[in-house]
Amino acid sequence: MIRLRENTDLREMTTFGLPAMCGRLVEFSDPVNDLPELDRRGLLDRAVLLGGGSNMLFTAPAPALTVIHPANDSITVDKTPDGQAIVTADAAVVLDGLCHTASQLGLWGLENLSGIPGHIGGAAVQNVGAYGVELADLVDSVTCYSRKNHRFVTYSKEDCQYGYRDSIFKHQEPDELLVVCRVTLRLQATPRLRLGYKGLYDTLCERYSLDRGNPQQYNITELLKAGISPLSVRESVMSLRDSKLPAPSETGSAGSFFKNPVVAAETLEAIISRWKEKSGPAAPPLPYHMLPGGTAKLSAAWLIDKAGCKPFTEGGAALWQTQPLVIVNLSGEATGADVVRLEKAVISQVESVFGVTLTPEVIHI
Ligand SMILES: Cc1cc2nc3c(=O)[nH]c(=O)nc-3n(C[C@H](O)[C@H](O)[C@H](O)COP(=O)(O)OP(=O)(O)OC[C@H]3O[C@@H](n4cnc5c(N)ncnc54)[C@H](O)[C@@H]3O)c2cc1C
Repeated sequence: MIRLRENTDLREMTTFGLPAMCGRLVEFSDPVNDLPELDRRGLLDRAVLLGGGSNMLFTAPAPALTVIHPANDSITVDKTPDGQAIVTADAAVVLDGLCHTASQLGLWGLENLSGIPGHIGGAAVQNVGAYGVELADLVDSVTCYSRKNHRFVTYSKEDCQYGYRDSIFKHQEPDELLVVCRVTLRLQATPRLRLGYKGLYDTLCERYSLDRGNPQQYNITELLKAGISPLSVRESVMSLRDSKLPAPSETGSAGSFFKNPVVAAETLEAIISRWKEKSGPAAPPLPYHMLPGGTAKLSAAWLIDKAGCKPFTEGGAALWQTQPLVIVNLSGEATGADVVRLEKAVISQVESVFGVTLTPEVIHI
């Protein structure tokens, strides 16, 4: 079914809760019939997709913009004889609801991604990640409607070209518009723990009163004997998230506003020397994580904090004090323009202290 509304404010459909006027909102629930129909009527031309609206910033009113909002939300689960489960979820399935369903069924894979707002369609575009897992680790295929080719296309995981918060769906030609309709995931019916994130491992050891042991060798056997399950990992993830991130129901945000910068090894040395020079010998060492291929990932939150940005505000927009990577609609009355001013102020301050240019993770419209 197709539902069309003119001149709509999308404020309630985005987690930032900022004013977001668009010229036309088109919702559909039956991709097979509705998308070719919308295509024929030219409604997919230069349109923008909106899923759960948890990673989008509408910077200004957009009276000429058409926004397409999938509303199809069925799930199927097929267990295979080799201990896997093929889970197929329509684009508008709520990611956290899917994490809950899979965990309740005893399926491993999605539990570390618990608590991330938004829909599975948006998650497959953004390649969401948390606590050592990215959606790409679980994707089997993604089915889309291509406006350019006027047909449905299924992308294998390799076709999706997943990277850090990146996928082929973020690099489309202006006339292309790939509408993600369905995502197929491969989950495991047998235990497959991902405990590389130390905070999560520590929380689970506490929960099961286990000795953390040698940090290089996780006590996975002991955790399994103690009865660890996808549901208990999910609960631990949720409690870790609650302690750091704003609850979307209380404070508007789009989660991490900036990406963690990835720099070449020589650039890393220059950044470290610059930081030592600026801050003196007693300064805390700059944290980084070496990646395969010799590049280094820096912590954007640490850079923002140490550059002194935490007190910055612009209109109703501010940084979340326990996680300054998150820009929040603190007053509830912020505008897209406030957020953009704050974003620019943070980028400029981090650049002047570290010589590193932050790039936003949040999609700007
Ligand atoms: C409090 C909070 C915490 C968060 N924590 C995390 C976290 O831990 N890890 C993480 O990775 N992210 C996190 N996020 C960011 C966000 O939740 C994810 O990026 C999420 O997957 C976006 O999904 P969505 O459905 O809301 O997409 P939207 O925000 O609606 O859209 C995101 C992008 O995907 C496109 N898109 C959406 N649906 C479709 C579709 N069906 N077809 C084609 N394109 C589409 C949009 O056009 C846009 O470009 C957090 C956000 C908030 C508010």
